[in-house]
Amino acid sequence: MSSYRKVVIACLSFFVVTHFCLAENPDGGMYPISTLHKLPLKKAGLKISETDIYNPNGTGILQAIVQIGGCTGSFVSGEGLIITNHHCAFSSLAPYSSTINNLFEKGYLAKSMKTELPMKGLTCKILEDHSDVSSEVLAGTDTIKDVIRKEAMIEKNMDHVRQLAQLKNNKIEIEVSEMLPGKSYLLFSYKVINDLRIVYIPPRDIGEFGGETDNWVWPRHTGDFSFIRAYVNKTGDGAGYDTSNIPYEPKEYLNINATGLDVGDFVFVLGYPGRTYRQEPSGFLKYQEEYQLPFISELYEWQINTMLQLGKSDSAYQIRQDPRIKSLANVMKNYKGKLQGLKKLDLYKTKQADDQALAAKIKDPANSRKYLETLKNIDSTYNLAEKEYKKYAWYNRLLIDDYFIKISHVVDLYKAIIDTDNNPEPKIRMTYSKQLREYYRNMYIRFDTMYFAKMLLDASSFDASDKPLSLEEVNSKITDPSRAIAASKLLDSSYLIDIILNKPSKILKLKDPFVQLAHIYYNDAKRLDSTEAIYKTRIEALTATYIDLKMDALQEEFVPDANHTLRLTYGYIKGYSPRDGVYYEPFTTTEGMIEKNGKNPDYNANDSLMKIFKLNMHNEQIAHHDVPLCLLYNTDTTGGNSGSPVLNKYGQLIGLNFDRNFEATINDYAWNDKYSRSIGLDIRFVLWELNSVAGAKNILNEMFIDN
Ligand code: ASP
Repeated sequence: MSSYRKVVIACLSFFVVTHFCLAENPDGGMYPISTLHKLPLKKAGLKISETDIYNPNGTGILQAIVQIGGCTGSFVSGEGLIITNHHCAFSSLAPYSSTINNLFEKGYLAKSMKTELPMKGLTCKILEDHSDVSSEVLAGTDTIKDVIRKEAMIEKNMDHVRQLAQLKNNKIEIEVSEMLPGKSYLLFSYKVINDLRIVYIPPRDIGEFGGETDNWVWPRHTGDFSFIRAYVNKTGDGAGYDTSNIPYEPKEYLNINATGLDVGDFVFVLGYPGRTYRQEPSGFLKYQEEYQLPFISELYEWQINTMLQLGKSDSAYQIRQDPRIKSLANVMKNYKGKLQGLKKLDLYKTKQADDQALAAKIKDPANSRKYLETLKNIDSTYNLAEKEYKKYAWYNRLLIDDYFIKISHVVDLYKAIIDTDNNPEPKIRMTYSKQLREYYRNMYIRFDTMYFAKMLLDASSFDASDKPLSLEEVNSKITDPSRAIAASKLLDSSYLIDIILNKPSKILKLKDPFVQLAHIYYNDAKRLDSTEAIYKTRIEALTATYIDLKMDALQEEFVPDANHTLRLTYGYIKGYSPRDGVYYEPFTTTEGMIEKNGKNPDYNANDSLMKIFKLNMHNEQIAHHDVPLCLLYNTDTTGGNSGSPVLNKYGQLIGLNFDRNFEATINDYAWNDKYSRSIGLDIRFVLWELNSVAGAKNILNEMFIDN
């Protein structure tokens, strides 16, 4: 634990000073922690030593960083207090929220540890150690010529290395991650904490101000933060929720600096970025642009609109679906941004030309031939995969998203068991009934019916070769989907669960058309899945060769694509020009929130918040200046970096990363200083909100801020 914590609050300044002093810029890059010592961080502006960030022989800032669900967070107190984004935590309010007491809207503050709310299903991971296991993973693969066999061997070795390490210590979670395919593999060990509790989630009109209108958009005015606490059992293990658990004492926690930054100031971000695809060949971009991105974004758009429509007449459903809609909308807009970027930058064509041009740079003629051959094979495999894409994606999305079809499938599987044993063990009965209960909980039959009908209709207009294999057969069984579902026995959950638990043999008599239909669907999907898996493995293996030859030709070390492992990225506070004649400043304040308020339903700060703003406007201390709100900086971030700490040159917390600008959604394929910006929340807004809006003195005190 850090013995000395200095919280710079004395000169809490709400003035936004803009003097221009840009230092040299990096070319983007999410650097693995194993490469930190190679980075010119000092030259770029860092004022502490690299070992203050990562110290292989002691503690460093890294130990304050956690992966939390699909996001990042950081410890800000010695008692397990974690700061992350509102959007990373708010869905945990679902079990506590109702139409009468809608905590999604109101938010929640625990004034003491006793009133903190357990977060179901969310865990956090803290990196304990990492090591290079490339030689173990690649052992024996050198001599394998066949790319698919080689890939299979690598995967087997990765698993073996992981299992061996796991056997040595079952208190930590081991992961082996591919950093560069066929080249570099790291073993990570994590402490996992399963007991997390909500400390503070701000009201929605702060945490999500601007909603979907402002998501992936700058200028931004969203107070996207929340506080969570991690608990462990008395022996320090990250066990599940228990009232006797105690707050976790992290090895490190972050110092806060509330003095504010200027344009051009150095910042760095630590976090767990999810996936980027910068090393992929051009064929990948074509696949994304022509198939995956349009299919998914259109489908999600339909789902969102339908859920919103259904929610209008059923507020309980509306509340339940809120987090789901938010996450679908987040992906949809991101994909639309990517599509726009791909087209605007003509990225596929540019990459294709680059890929071809590289052959000339490869000195060894045999390698040059191999490179061209590999490119050709990659393209032809993508062509084959593209042919199956529509069918494959159609099945996938139907079977993942339609709970009625999922229920039908569980019944079909249970039937298969009873066919061979009409008196299954209680454990089997329990497993199936539990699964069904979960699906019934998630099913909203109006949505599932509409979705199924839409999917059938979509498929009927596909070209013959894109049509789902079993469509004709299904059509002959079910002509009117809505009517057929309404008449189905499967809608009766108690009837079905009773059969599963107490009268298993009765299931054989159930002649519901949807059970047969699920049978047909799942078999077709399985066949397509295995074809897809072959293409995928082949592409992965060929891509490894492609990267290897490319690296050799360019004589460069590539920064590995993001893969959910801890990374550091650095840059500067910096605005950008989204289009000709327009320049965006890198700071916003609450003034912008007030200006936007009421313009559309996404801008709906409630009256009391507006009153507080107005009061503050007349507060002597801040003398009519507004509270700083959001920041823009040119670091290299992606999904998973939400909640990542934004740190200044002294490694102190100055903000919370939560988004990117619309143009930067294309980052995942190509980062560029012209358009790639990350969006963060200024820590001064968090402190102001805790003090002036939430009245959360307990949190401020815990972070050692004396008010
Ligand atoms: N909004 C993203 C997230 O949820 C962050 C990003 O993609 O830049 O992780």
